[in-house]
Amino acid sequence: MPQLTANHLKDRLVKRLIIDRGIEVSDATNKDMYYALSYIVNDEIMPNWFKTNKSYGEKQAKQVYYLSMEFLIGRLLESNLLNCGMLDVAKEALEELGFHSEFVFAEERDAGLGNGGLGRLAACFLDSLASLHYPGHGYGIRYRYGLFEQRIIHGNQVELPDYWLKDSYPWETRKEEEAVVIQFHGKVHMFKRNDGSLEFKYENTDKVLAVPYDIPVVGYKNEVVNTLRLWSAEPVLEQNAEAMEENREFYRDLDHQHSIEQISGFLYPDDSNYEGKELRLKQQYFLVSSSIQNILKKFKKGHRLPVSRLSEKVVIQINDTHPSLAIPEMMRILMDEERLDWDTAWEVTTKVFAYTNHTTLSEALETWPQEMLQNLLPRIYMIIDEINERFCKSIWFNYEELRDKIPELAIIAHGRVHMARLAIVGSFSVNGVARIHTEILKKKEMRDFYSLFPEKFNNKTNGITHRRWLLQANPKLADVITEVIGPQWIKRPKQLISLLKYSNDKALLEKFNRVKHENKKALANYIHQHTGILVDDQSIFDVQIKRLHEYKRQLLNIFHVIYLYNELKENPNQDMTPHTFIFGAKAAPSYYVAKEVIKLINTVASIVNYDKDIQGKLKVIFLENYNVSLAEKIIPAADISEQISTASKEASGTGNMKMMMNGAITLGTMDGANIEIHDLVGDSNIFIFGLTADEVLHYYQNGGYNARDIYNTDDRVKRILDQLNQGEFGKHDIEFKDIFYNILYHNDPYFVLKDFEPYLETHELAERAYRDRLTWLNMSVTNIAYSGKFSSDQTIREYATDIWKIKQV
Ligand SMILES: *Cc1c(COP(=O)(O)O)cnc(C)c1O
Repeated sequence: MPQLTANHLKDRLVKRLIIDRGIEVSDATNKDMYYALSYIVNDEIMPNWFKTNKSYGEKQAKQVYYLSMEFLIGRLLESNLLNCGMLDVAKEALEELGFHSEFVFAEERDAGLGNGGLGRLAACFLDSLASLHYPGHGYGIRYRYGLFEQRIIHGNQVELPDYWLKDSYPWETRKEEEAVVIQFHGKVHMFKRNDGSLEFKYENTDKVLAVPYDIPVVGYKNEVVNTLRLWSAEPVLEQNAEAMEENREFYRDLDHQHSIEQISGFLYPDDSNYEGKELRLKQQYFLVSSSIQNILKKFKKGHRLPVSRLSEKVVIQINDTHPSLAIPEMMRILMDEERLDWDTAWEVTTKVFAYTNHTTLSEALETWPQEMLQNLLPRIYMIIDEINERFCKSIWFNYEELRDKIPELAIIAHGRVHMARLAIVGSFSVNGVARIHTEILKKKEMRDFYSLFPEKFNNKTNGITHRRWLLQANPKLADVITEVIGPQWIKRPKQLISLLKYSNDKALLEKFNRVKHENKKALANYIHQHTGILVDDQSIFDVQIKRLHEYKRQLLNIFHVIYLYNELKENPNQDMTPHTFIFGAKAAPSYYVAKEVIKLINTVASIVNYDKDIQGKLKVIFLENYNVSLAEKIIPAADISEQISTASKEASGTGNMKMMMNGAITLGTMDGANIEIHDLVGDSNIFIFGLTADEVLHYYQNGGYNARDIYNTDDRVKRILDQLNQGEFGKHDIEFKDIFYNILYHNDPYFVLKDFEPYLETHELAERAYRDRLTWLNMSVTNIAYSGKFSSDQTIREYATDIWKIKQV
């Protein structure tokens, strides 16, 4: 792109406002400016999008398709400007026209088409694919309602619908001509062809139209624009008049139309939790059928190869088991439409699919009732049944030692279809998302599958795009880094390691200190505006932001806060560095315990924040509606990154990486990618505490831990639990009793009490380290230096070379 100046951009903005909106700059609102600027950015993107697609066609490159029920992309204007190389110029132009870029960017709806880490990972991967010149695209669903908007009312979470498409969304293009038909229900008829092969025909199916909306995925200053294709469900409008006649009653039935549109109606708000609703199953098949049809159509149009050679040009990554019906769907099309025989179709299919496992939590395991699947997708069920038969037979005949295990390996067992088993059997690669997680899969969770298919299993530790999470979210820090080590790190994030050379340079550490403090001031302002609470910007900003889950142990964190509060009440003059505990977390609407924890955090906040006795040494802030945009505000200001999951439970975590990259020190358990952070930075640059995964798994297997012993022997713990039981924090004396019971009567399944004391001690160490400013800053810079390893660019390179076998074009 030719050098665009702020003056030039100002002219274009002025013209755009007149042409598109019929107004002058002096009358324009932030929203008018947001649209004007977005359309200008689109003008830059579109020619490159066209060029990229054309060059992929010409080069006949192998493509990767990333299938995911979630893409948590957040806002796009600022990141598109950044990747187009226009961000600085745009900020300048906006300011000169009298606008604050921050307010203009904030006019965009945050696209919350995901729950948490899994969806955000998909978004980071797309950014890295495009930025590294890889031919890779995303397929997802264009939910009309994204993840609910969270409000906190009287301490309780209240969910509001997220109708993010209310205003027009400037980044999408509807591609009606590429719509495909998806079929549900109906009957399958089997015929014998003349050559003796079988033919399957479907009758009386319910047809749904899948209409794609394309969103450009802009590479960083490289003119590559890949595609995120989101499918929207609409009624099929029959063209021919007779059918119209027949269907008149049918389509007058608005109920039916509504039920079709419901398929892309909303995102299920459960994170790491299986929801066995039929509508969810419909959504899954809707995504995979439209995507696989589209992928095959493109393959046939783009290559003069038979579909039996699909794997030379196509690889499909399925993000968790949610899109695993893609495997039988591929089989269906290859056999019923492309007329391949079973063995050929199976060979093609198992060379095309790769599966990522995201969790070992039992409540997240997807299994569908056999009848539900059979009724909704009769042909797909037949194919799964056949895959299962053949798989079980092969164990029976080839692996005598596993014969007893067939019920635990079978894809269909006890009336349920096990999606992870289908995904493993039907793909050539199975990966976990951090080293420990992959080891647990191999040694425990998927042990027998590992013994059957050792060659399929591999690890790909998650990553985050340093472009959004450092360059864009923390431009001040990015500038200081560039000032010190030059700009090469932006293209090669591992070069952040050069910062180590300067990690004892006092003058330099002071610069890092200043940036962190400015970011803390900005967050303190935001907190004041949104909660009315004044926080001390010199206090330790201790941050836990992530979905609310028992295994993530926000409860442990708030217990620590209650402990500190109790201590301060007893001895208000004790020497303590002021702390600000910052929380952000959405709970699944039906997750009762999680909602109780949110209420507890807010209740503790409402007591602590207004208690004059403690002299402002403690503040507790719950920021409502945690999403990507809020993460971008909080992370640059974090001093301590709370990553305190019960060991073995957090597959990887990516929030840990984002905060590390912004100079926060991890205080966490040996779980997920925390372990790999620890490997890199060493004991002295991270605060590790608590049970290890082996210890946790050992307790689960052998018992040996009694929560009541701790309650009975540790006065601090007893005090807190009694405060909950006696309603000391509640408006009624029953409030928070359930948390008390959950711990003492269910024997503390997440080891909150067991890890309590080491957690306190580790916090004391952290506080002491924080007071030693140079040591702390050195730790902080050391963390930034090593964080390049967690750029999703690195992760994507590994997927590309080890799994996908695709080349940069
Ligand atoms: C990164 C991110 C997550 C994942 O956070 P974890 O701490 O890894 O669970 C969830 N939600 C949002 C909005 C994020 O940006």
